[in-house]
Amino acid sequence: MTDVESFRAELVKFLEHELPTQLGELPPPTGDYWGGRKPELPHPMSRRYCELMAARGLTAPTWPKEYGGGGLGKEQAKIFLAELRRLGLPLPLVGFGLSMIGPTLLQFGTEAQKREHLPKIVRGEIRWAQGYSEPNAGSDLASLAASARIAGDELVINGQKIWTSYADKADWMFGIFRTDAGGKKQEGITFLLLDMAQAGVEVRPIKLISGASPFCETFFTDARAHTKDIIFGIGKGWTVAKALLGHERTMIGDVFGAGAGARNTVTAGNPLAELAREYLGVRDGRIADPVLRDRVAQISMDERCFALTTQRSADSLKAGHKPGPESSIFKIYGTELNQRRHELMLSLRGPACLGWEGQGFEERELVQTRDWLRSRGNSIEGGTSEVQLNIIAKHVLGLPD
Ligand SMILES: Cc1cc2nc3c(=O)[nH]c(=O)nc-3n(C[C@H](O)[C@H](O)[C@H](O)COP(=O)(O)OP(=O)(O)OC[C@H]3O[C@@H](n4cnc5c(N)ncnc54)[C@H](O)[C@@H]3O)c2cc1C
Repeated sequence: MTDVESFRAELVKFLEHELPTQLGELPPPTGDYWGGRKPELPHPMSRRYCELMAARGLTAPTWPKEYGGGGLGKEQAKIFLAELRRLGLPLPLVGFGLSMIGPTLLQFGTEAQKREHLPKIVRGEIRWAQGYSEPNAGSDLASLAASARIAGDELVINGQKIWTSYADKADWMFGIFRTDAGGKKQEGITFLLLDMAQAGVEVRPIKLISGASPFCETFFTDARAHTKDIIFGIGKGWTVAKALLGHERTMIGDVFGAGAGARNTVTAGNPLAELAREYLGVRDGRIADPVLRDRVAQISMDERCFALTTQRSADSLKAGHKPGPESSIFKIYGTELNQRRHELMLSLRGPACLGWEGQGFEERELVQTRDWLRSRGNSIEGGTSEVQLNIIAKHVLGLPD
């Protein structure tokens, strides 16, 4: 048996026999588990499922074993995802720990910082929020004003962040703060980690057009962080912040570009085509409406091409390549693809998507209306489309300012 075959055999034994024995009932493929000190459970077994997977490093399959990861190579990681999909199992854990601060700590953290924070991310013990944007610093992020003053081995933090996704559910924040107000604005920025469970941190949820409140205003009044949680040194935060944005943009492009119903495991079949058949009917074995059939085919092809491209990029990341300005291409394409997909789903469902609440509509139709409204934010979060185009023009194509 080759190494790859014995890896698969061992994995299948765990997934097909050990997991069901330990859990009784396995969680379904839908519903993300974000972990944290006050976890929300999409399924009663989600937490235990995460713990069992984490014990084998399978919540962060490609991270090094010494920090709790699985230490898998790219072939093995692909096998792991393929087996999850085959068995209809969800990813055990999602969140900004795994997708943003974890990879950034692997790149910039000291040995002590990695050993302190990465295993807690892998085990889903700490949920993270991102403290970047401020009321006067979004696209022009380096203009941020929230300050961190060094006092002994602590930093005293004052000011405000905004649009902090899931700040009301998060335990720790990674963020950028001004430690020096003189000189070039990028040079006075420090990247640090702080525990949000303290009196000096207040979060206020902001309600969105979709009716949900996924993000918050975050206020700091003499909040405290430890100097040991400064990443890459005082005044060097801009370099770390930009690298993290590379991970964030790749992740956003990946998540939103992956296809309807594919946010967690990659569901088999073509959900768009199934939806079209259901709402438009079938004629001669094909989706009845030729114009919408054409749009379903186009988006399905675009999704497939994009999935292959992001897979190629993920493989090169595993081989040690760091995400560069090309992550802006994934971000812009993936989010616009998601917006096109939601527009198409509205067209397929027609008047069934006019509902907001109450009777006369199925629950999934009401969810679709709100998801479509939520998708409008995709071209803003993680850096707007205009800003991505500027980055592509300047740093990928080398065009003049
Ligand atoms: C769903 C969602 C989740 C988010 N989550 C987080 C989070 O967790 N943490 C966090 O810190 N932030 C978060 N954000 C904030 C997000 O990063 C900012 O909204 C984004 O960077 C844009 O900043 P702004 O809103 O201040 O808009 P502005 O920067 O004021 O931009 C306004 C408009 O001007 C355009 N513009 C600005 N500068 C230029 C330029 N140089 N060239 C061309 N056009 C330009 C923009 O494209 C935009 O259309 C989130 C946002 C959304 C929508």
